[in-house]
Amino acid sequence: MDEATHECAARSCNVRIPASKLMCAKDWALVPEHVQRSVNRTYRARPRDWAAYAVAVRDAQDAVDATTYPATLLQAAKILRSRAEAAGGQPWEAAHFPEGTIVRPAGSMVSLFRLHATGPQRPWGTPYVTPEIGDFLATMHPGLASLFADLLEEAAATATANLQNTRHHPRDVTKAVAAAHQITGDDHA
Ligand SMILES: [Zn+2]
Repeated sequence: MDEATHECAARSCNVRIPASKLMCAKDWALVPEHVQRSVNRTYRARPRDWAAYAVAVRDAQDAVDATTYPATLLQAAKILRSRAEAAGGQPWEAAHFPEGTIVRPAGSMVSLFRLHATGPQRPWGTPYVTPEIGDFLATMHPGLASLFADLLEEAAATATANLQNTRHHPRDVTKAVAAAHQITGDDHA
């Protein structure tokens, strides 16, 4: 019978590897040397200190995850930028009327919300939202999206600079990655 195997410890990998290894060769190579050393050292000391080993394994898993951060952040920035551009790139404003609130490009009289005014199946009229929704949509306008894309790109640069030091990944980077996953539709946040 073959040597006992288990799944690679990297979170997004299910390669079967010998029980004596923590990760497959591809993922282990992504772990910075000082984290590899700490995994090996704490592995030997497990009988005395299991928790230290668990921390080291987690650091190694985080390090593998972190290698995807820059690409994820840059992809999200690109999506956000192109959608903001396609949506006009300009600030929006909420206009409040007795009937309800519309959102329109700043300086325009025309609502962003359109219904076809003609056609047998089409109701006629202007769709309104609540004042709160209108204010929110106007706040999150395409111009803001471009600035947010800048922040994602800055986070990508920080993430790249931190690949060797993932244990101390700044919290703003991990938050930015969570936001990026929302934008790319990749839901493992
Ligand atoms: Zn693997």
